[in-house]
Amino acid sequence: MPGFEFFGKEEIKEVNDVLETGILMRYGFDGPRKGIWKAKELEDAICQTFGCQHAQLVSSGTAALTTAMGALGIGYGDEVILPSFTFVASFEAVISVGAVPVFVDVDDTLTLDPQAVRNAITPKTKCIMPVHMCGSMADMDALQAICEENSLVLLEDACQSIGGTYKGKKLGTIGDAGTFSFDFVKTITCAEGGVVMTNREDVYIASDGYSDHGHDHKGADRGADLHPFIGYNFRISELHAAVGLAQIKKLDNFLAIQKKNHSVLKEALTSIPEVSFRRIPDESGDSCTFLSWFLPTEEVTHAVVAELKAQNILAGNFYWFVNNWHYVSKWDHLKQATTLNGLHPDLKAAVMHHATKDFSASDAIMSRCISTAIGLTWTDEQLKTKGEQLVAVIKKVLREQKVSV
Ligand SMILES: *Cc1c(COP(=O)(O)O)cnc(C)c1O
Repeated sequence: MPGFEFFGKEEIKEVNDVLETGILMRYGFDGPRKGIWKAKELEDAICQTFGCQHAQLVSSGTAALTTAMGALGIGYGDEVILPSFTFVASFEAVISVGAVPVFVDVDDTLTLDPQAVRNAITPKTKCIMPVHMCGSMADMDALQAICEENSLVLLEDACQSIGGTYKGKKLGTIGDAGTFSFDFVKTITCAEGGVVMTNREDVYIASDGYSDHGHDHKGADRGADLHPFIGYNFRISELHAAVGLAQIKKLDNFLAIQKKNHSVLKEALTSIPEVSFRRIPDESGDSCTFLSWFLPTEEVTHAVVAELKAQNILAGNFYWFVNNWHYVSKWDHLKQATTLNGLHPDLKAAVMHHATKDFSASDAIMSRCISTAIGLTWTDEQLKTKGEQLVAVIKKVLREQKVSV
């Protein structure tokens, strides 16, 4: 799954290029940097690889979401619809720009249920933010149609699905803007980093300034730049970009390995009729970082997780339903609006409203779902063993619980 599994001499070479000039910043110092522009080079490679017009690198995936929201004009008084199953960064970004996160149910795609999105639209809704969780995609045709009908902005959090596609288009390049994370456990890594991708020039120009103190990058030097609006510092460093530049060249290889290992593991689980799989709106576009599968009931799922743990083979199998990070049921800090700085009272009330909101439709999905992370370095033998072990555990539990579906 993560690119760090293949860290090697290519990354070291790119980083050394930067260390030899000593220019660790992505802007300026045109003479001393001797033609080394790793961040610019990586942005070009991202546009080429993913087929988007513009890419703005930043310091993290969270910074990318925050920058995209700033660039799309999302802030006070706006509601952003996002799924109940996501990484906390998605809502951190919404709250940080002063907008209201509105969580809605996921369906068996593990992403936004389009009908739940429709039901959540109010006059304040400004943006729909699908999160392409665990390597695979949301139903983009349905969500795009909703955005068009209601004049809403579409922002894709594609941080977990680098290289995935939907009907031939790369995830993250379909909406008004999309983001990747290059943190240490993502499909390709910069150690820390992220990117805003867009086909809208206005969004790109705004992202470029927003992530660098509002600099317009038009002056003869930084001191001569103008500041058309207030920005922040979400810059990536040349060292981080250098790592990413080596990694992006390995992406096709990572994806090919993931696809192969994913299909072998899926084949093994298919032998159990009680196991079903995540619905994938465009099966051929799955980046295959995870295999996500369902058991018939919550009780059986708990028992399978307990048995995996007892046999010491739980690692790499994620039961998000009880995980503190990824599912709404455990986000107590969100539901209590526990922030260090004060929030606008309207925002605070709207955030706290989630403490009593009904997520039973999401619970019915997430309580039965396990995602198995797909390794890049597994040998054929290890892969075979993993499949056999999983199948044996599931069959044992089903036998013990005498489940029939
Ligand atoms: C990792 C991740 C992020 C945030 O990325 P960071 O680079 O860790 O800040 C945002 N959204 C999702 C879905 C993620 O998985």
